[in-house]
Amino acid sequence: MKELIDKLRDTNELSRGEWECLIRGRTPKLAEYLFEEARKVRHAHYGTDVYVRGLIEFTNYCRNDCFYCGIRKSNLEVRRYRLDKQEILLCCETGYELGFRTFVLQGGEDGFYSDDKMVEMIGDIRDKFPDCAITLSIGEKSYEAYQRFYDAGADRYLLRHETYDAEHYGKLHPPELTAARRQQCLWDLKKIGYQVGTGFMVGTPWQTEANLASDMLFLKELNPQMVGIGPFIPHHETPFAAYDAGSKELTLFMLGLIRLMLPKVLLPATTALGTIDTQGREAGILAGANVVMPNLSPTSVRKDYSLYDNKICTGDEAAECRMCLANRMHSIGYEVVVNRGDSLNN
Ligand code: SAH
Repeated sequence: MKELIDKLRDTNELSRGEWECLIRGRTPKLAEYLFEEARKVRHAHYGTDVYVRGLIEFTNYCRNDCFYCGIRKSNLEVRRYRLDKQEILLCCETGYELGFRTFVLQGGEDGFYSDDKMVEMIGDIRDKFPDCAITLSIGEKSYEAYQRFYDAGADRYLLRHETYDAEHYGKLHPPELTAARRQQCLWDLKKIGYQVGTGFMVGTPWQTEANLASDMLFLKELNPQMVGIGPFIPHHETPFAAYDAGSKELTLFMLGLIRLMLPKVLLPATTALGTIDTQGREAGILAGANVVMPNLSPTSVRKDYSLYDNKICTGDEAAECRMCLANRMHSIGYEVVVNRGDSLNN
């Protein structure tokens, strides 16, 4: 098994069979070796810098009904909210003062924010914060819409493929959502020129090692600038309420593998990882991750953007989150830096 890790480190790729074998055959000892190698690669390209992104969860209305997600349209228990442009700009201002140079506008697929409204909002943020990156994470849109957002000043787009395998994808989503459409969006975004982030959940119901192997092969082919992965965590008001969460152990292992496959990729230690374990994000950084994405949303709406149960930091002010993260990273020998944090994977 160790040879497979060496091969991955030296050639940055494995075959489907090798991926399956390595993921299936993982042991704590092997993981330790993997993380050591992943850290070396991470340090070679990014040193001990940790990039931060300010996450603004600006709407929890969603037209979709993903079986895992707490803000799916069928969940009538959610208190729905939208932030208006002024509120969003205020989040950016707060974030800017705290040293954020990347803002991520994330939300459900909310028809209220028409393409015109988004273009206007992106333009305003672009004017006010010329030295910042604007990242969108608002789901599946037409090529034309993506192009308009890009022309208005958006630089980056986050859209996880969730799971590559069409059959597995079909078990996690209603029939109107397909793996093919999701993946097409990613190719569209790349073609337009966005810095693209994709990724998948670890430990979703029915996920197999073969599914994870497919995810790795897809990542290799797409070659995105960023890869966000986190454990699936059940939400009590969804069809997946009774399923087990994904494990920290497997999530960390996948992080290490991604670092060796795409040495220069941006790799966040996600909030979901920090939710299943109090030291999850630190462990993620030590497995090869180099980005954290604290929340800039107003505390008044934080609890309402619950994609899964027990999400961390829902009561904290942006400044507290920023400080807390800086301390956490410092405690393991890393440093949060003030810059756009562009990907070296181009
Ligand atoms: N509407 C946007 C943003 C989705 S929320 C979009 O379609 O891209 C961001 C990510 O949260 C999702 O891509 C999914 O991978 C993750 N997520 C949603 N529900 C989750 C859950 N129950 N556990 C873990 N991650 C979840």
